[in-house]
Amino acid sequence: MTDARVNLLDFTRPELEKWVLDRGGKAFRARQLWSWIYKRGQISFDAMTDLAKDFRAELNVVAEIRLPEVVTRQDAADGTVKWMLRADNAQGFEMVYIPEEGRATLCISSQVGCAMDCSFCSTAQQGFNRNLTTAEIVGQVFLAQKELGFKAGDERLISNVVLMGMGEPLANFRNVVPAMRILLDELGFDFSRRRLTLSTSGLVPQIYKLAEESNVALAVSLHAPDDELRSQLVPINRRHPISELLEACWHYIDEQNGRSITFEYVMLEGVNDSPAQARQLARLLKGHPAKVNLIPFNPFPGTQYRRSSEPAIRAFLDQVLKGGVMATIRRTRGDDIDAACGQLVGKVIDRTTTRLGARRVQVVTESRPAVAS
Ligand code: SAH
Repeated sequence: MTDARVNLLDFTRPELEKWVLDRGGKAFRARQLWSWIYKRGQISFDAMTDLAKDFRAELNVVAEIRLPEVVTRQDAADGTVKWMLRADNAQGFEMVYIPEEGRATLCISSQVGCAMDCSFCSTAQQGFNRNLTTAEIVGQVFLAQKELGFKAGDERLISNVVLMGMGEPLANFRNVVPAMRILLDELGFDFSRRRLTLSTSGLVPQIYKLAEESNVALAVSLHAPDDELRSQLVPINRRHPISELLEACWHYIDEQNGRSITFEYVMLEGVNDSPAQARQLARLLKGHPAKVNLIPFNPFPGTQYRRSSEPAIRAFLDQVLKGGVMATIRRTRGDDIDAACGQLVGKVIDRTTTRLGARRVQVVTESRPAVAS
């Protein structure tokens, strides 16, 4: 852990250029290096054969291209793959690959644990541990390609990336924005901005900030049509109520010329799934560039909530559609690799986490249920 080498996956392209120039190198070397990393997926400096030998030797001393380490990998019959990863001795986080007809989505994490404390989310139980670095966020996409057998020149294996894994991405703005720049870079991963989605629980000031700095697709975890209920489910609502949140959302769309915002809505039996609540939700969103994505709740040990029944979810969907708002149901994928309704349960090394100021030691942590799409 005393290794002082910089992880080059931390740098955007201009940052890498600056780093090379600062060390007395030429700009074209930075471009070569970038291309080796992102176009050819090469992580060994020794294999970058057109780089000068002395430059390679120097790189080996001062830099590295380090990917997160795989702790466990589970392959489902439907092609979904879930990984539990770690970046150092104790930090566990998850990543999920979801192949579908015509697209394949990689769901990545932005933090280890989460401080938002949403009552229906298993990550909240774990508390907040730390922000992932830019390199750890970018490294997930890199690692997934490698794990899935991607070779330079192959067709894309991953068409969409969603920041919907563990953590609140806008609470890690400083590392998430550069990571998205690298994912969007046309000489990097070259993802389309419509195929890179950031999901947030509703950090309003950061949504305004994001509108200035990035143009990715936005998903917002709404989960309730009124402030009283939303404050119970998503505590950040007490600071930034629904009206403020929606205002920020419409601002984001205007600034970014985006198509629409996806509002995620977890279906909790008897809590937020009544037809009246569906109509209220539609009234909030009607006439705006919005679509609703209903997520059947994934239960986890100790939760007070139950998943809404299929008929209740369908009836809710109908009411939202009738109310004039686009809506879909998110399908749960990869069920067979975990008995507990698409949940990844990983044993992570003993550690201390902080949650609401209290320190506690956890031996076994469960990651948030795998997001299905
Ligand atoms: N922190 C971000 C991104 C992570 S979660 C956010 O809140 O948007 C991605 C989605 O999964 C969110 O909409 C989240 O509310 C939802 N989710 C969390 N726990 C869930 C559960 N147990 N069942 C179904 N969806 C859940």
